[in-house]
Amino acid sequence: MISTRFTEIFGIEHPIVQGGMQNVGVAELVSAVADAGALGFLTALTQPSPEALTREIARTRGMTDRPFGVNLTILPTLKPIPYEEYAQAVVESGIEIVETAGNNPQRFLPAFKAAGIKVVHKCTSVRHAVKAEKIGCDAISIDGFECAGHPGEDDIPGLVLIPCAADRVSIPMIASGGFGDARGLVAALALGADGMNMGTRFMATREAPIHDNIKQALVAATERDTALIFRSLRNTARVFRNAVSDEVNSIEAGGDATIDDIKHLVSGERGKQALDTGDTDAGIWSAGMVAGLIHDVPTCRELVDRIMREAVEIIDARLAGMRPAVPASAL
Ligand code: NAD
Repeated sequence: MISTRFTEIFGIEHPIVQGGMQNVGVAELVSAVADAGALGFLTALTQPSPEALTREIARTRGMTDRPFGVNLTILPTLKPIPYEEYAQAVVESGIEIVETAGNNPQRFLPAFKAAGIKVVHKCTSVRHAVKAEKIGCDAISIDGFECAGHPGEDDIPGLVLIPCAADRVSIPMIASGGFGDARGLVAALALGADGMNMGTRFMATREAPIHDNIKQALVAATERDTALIFRSLRNTARVFRNAVSDEVNSIEAGGDATIDDIKHLVSGERGKQALDTGDTDAGIWSAGMVAGLIHDVPTCRELVDRIMREAVEIIDARLAGMRPAVPASAL
């Protein structure tokens, strides 16, 4: 058992979070994560409408009695998103924890706060973490350059970003990007975080609602098998490197590409097709460098139990063993 400010304030058994993942964060995964004692987030925009999100929240509640939250990501999209209506659906469903990401969540905070919702803001820079604390967020999820999805444009890996953020924020902080095992959790705690977020690692679990070929692709992958796209559009995304990401990058290399030149390749609909059918080249799908640390497809409970058991072993045996016994004469 490892207790941190995050587990205490958010009422979670273990300091492990499964953050938003487009087309992955649905009831099957989130309820399994919750039952394993970690904090799972439904991904709001994976649901085609606010009404569908309301139904998905109810479906998740039918599958677990443990706490879970909803992720609301604000990034450029191909179609306009009715964010206020999604936020309203969250409030009306009685959700108690929200993860915001992608942009400043200030416009949603009054409604969330009035409903007693705790807000974890996921961001990729120290300045945005400081701002999130200032506007009233309850926790930060700080996302290093290793992460899947959108790492921002500063390219600061977690080893520097996490302690830099810890020096500047006083609310609880989750370390995100590159985390997938007990070594990562202990490192996150040592760097000043109160827990760790895992995305890609939770994709390679039995309950993740994606095709087994995708899970096996993650098992087979090394830390070198991701690619960055959208760099030229300043909306950088880390994805699993495949034929489509190569094509996007060759178009972007021309220097003057717009979203219109690549939208037929990058649409979320095509990415969902890859995850659903197992055709790894069907579209763009997010994956982090942590793929190099994924070697199996356990259940969420097996994964979380293993991480917690090994984390305690690392702290109590490996690290404690590095400290020589203090001779009685020195006491
Ligand atoms: P989509 O089909 O609307 O767009 C596909 C991709 O193109 C997304 O990465 C999007 O950010 C990007 N894009 C769209 N319009 C753009 C523009 N004008 N300029 C630059 N880039 C543009 O997206 P979707 O798959 O339906 O996902 C919905 C939203 O949720 C997206 O913004 C997605 O990035 C985001 N999301 C990301 C994560 C993550 O970081 N892993 C998790 C949850 C949701």
